[in-house]
Amino acid sequence: MNVDISNISNISTVTPAAAPAAAPATALDSKPPRVRFAPSPTGQLHIGGARTAIYNWAFARAHGGTFILRIEDTDPERSTEENTHIILRALRWLGLDWDEGPEIGGDFGPYFQTQRSESYALAFETLQANDGVYPCFCSVETLSAKREAAEKSEGGWAGYDRTCRALSPQEANARIAAGEPHVWRLKVPETRGAIEFEDAVYGKLSFSADVMDDMVLIRTDNTPTYNFAVVCDDANMQISHVIRGDDHLSNTPRQILIYEALGITPPTFAHLSMILGSDNKKLSKRQGSSSVEEYRDRGYLSDALVNFLSLLGWSLDGETTIIDRETLTREFSLDRITKKDAVFDEVKLDWMNGVYIRELDAPTWVSHATPWLVEAGAREADIKENPAFFEKLYPLVIERLARMDEIPSKLAYMFWGNKVILDEDSVKKVLLKEGARAEEALRGCRAVLADTSIPWECEPLQNACRTLSDTLDIKPKNLFQPLRVAVCGNMVSPPLFESIELLDRTCVLARIDQTLDCVFHA
Ligand code: GLU
Repeated sequence: MNVDISNISNISTVTPAAAPAAAPATALDSKPPRVRFAPSPTGQLHIGGARTAIYNWAFARAHGGTFILRIEDTDPERSTEENTHIILRALRWLGLDWDEGPEIGGDFGPYFQTQRSESYALAFETLQANDGVYPCFCSVETLSAKREAAEKSEGGWAGYDRTCRALSPQEANARIAAGEPHVWRLKVPETRGAIEFEDAVYGKLSFSADVMDDMVLIRTDNTPTYNFAVVCDDANMQISHVIRGDDHLSNTPRQILIYEALGITPPTFAHLSMILGSDNKKLSKRQGSSSVEEYRDRGYLSDALVNFLSLLGWSLDGETTIIDRETLTREFSLDRITKKDAVFDEVKLDWMNGVYIRELDAPTWVSHATPWLVEAGAREADIKENPAFFEKLYPLVIERLARMDEIPSKLAYMFWGNKVILDEDSVKKVLLKEGARAEEALRGCRAVLADTSIPWECEPLQNACRTLSDTLDIKPKNLFQPLRVAVCGNMVSPPLFESIELLDRTCVLARIDQTLDCVFHA
């Protein structure tokens, strides 16, 4: 759930003038930072999660710190190994290498929450020793009834009414010994005032303590709740900065109370604002909320996606848009993160992807383009054996590609062999255009292209066809367009004579013959 902090009554943003001077939240002490990305493997890696991962990674890299990956797999119903695998694969594809975490280990492991029960038990012992927790025997039914009644009353639900906090230790122990089901709740100090903290993005935030009820830390089945596990892990892994989406903002004061109960200084928090679609609404499936791998499969380059996502809420200098990884990982800083919601503009992403595609050299382009070249009709073995041919396709499309998935529609004609698949609309508009003399043009071109004395190269072939246009007194456009449709199937293909040069003569002549036959029944 995303939290719009402006709508939450228990959170007030304190203006700097009213706030007591506090150390800037972004200040780094002498120790290099330790940050983490902590996905729950309940689904794929989505755009919001990827941005959080990028910010943590870039922050660690820019400050000589450590980027940790922790899998929060405590929800047994929704967490799957398959999702973990997909998340790791997506992070690898994005090029976000972690320094500690699954598959590589580290000094603060294990990096799966389900393997960290011992550390939760230890932290729980500390809380017991500090008199920071109490068992609660209220059943779910009792609690729901209380809640329902409270919600109907004027004051509303103000959290758990602390019934079991009043139990004597003897009674509580006796009920536990008798096997009565119970949870363990945090004993929030009665005197605890507002919970304030300096968020590195939002500035000073204040949460009223009276709405922080005695939250459950250990469930009836002895498993830790999300807030407890996260605090234990962040503390044990010595996380210095928690950078995460602002959907977790309402958890932060609760987590601070747990840190206090454990006697541990909380880390610096930096909450990232929402990402909106270009319609200024929450990201929808249609727009931006797709998984990272869907973007990969639509032909975005990971460099472009990382660049684009890094700018959803952060800026280098307010104007630079093309920021390579090197610059990002050198310059990233929390103080340039904005609290304004970011807008996911797919048009801008396409533009940026095009810029990155044009920066590839031909061999690299071929290696990125391989799946789409195969979709266009190429044989993967041919690409491997004869990359030079495929590198020649690069200049045909490079100026026109925003995404790699446009390759099949743009280049399929290169793999049709002796056949042509004619686009109906192009046939109507070009070949059957009244008064355009398309058949004559096509027959003339066929003769030129059949003339073996003209070298099979772009320029001489184009020059010969130009001469033909003078001879026949047909405008070059009215000569080239029919030829384009006959060879490439439609009127908007990549450059014509460059394409013809790459297709062999037999194939080009066969396509022209097929067109003459189909369209003019010659
Ligand atoms: N596991 C949480 C999630 O996927 C993140 C917890 C956190 O960053 O504190 O939303």
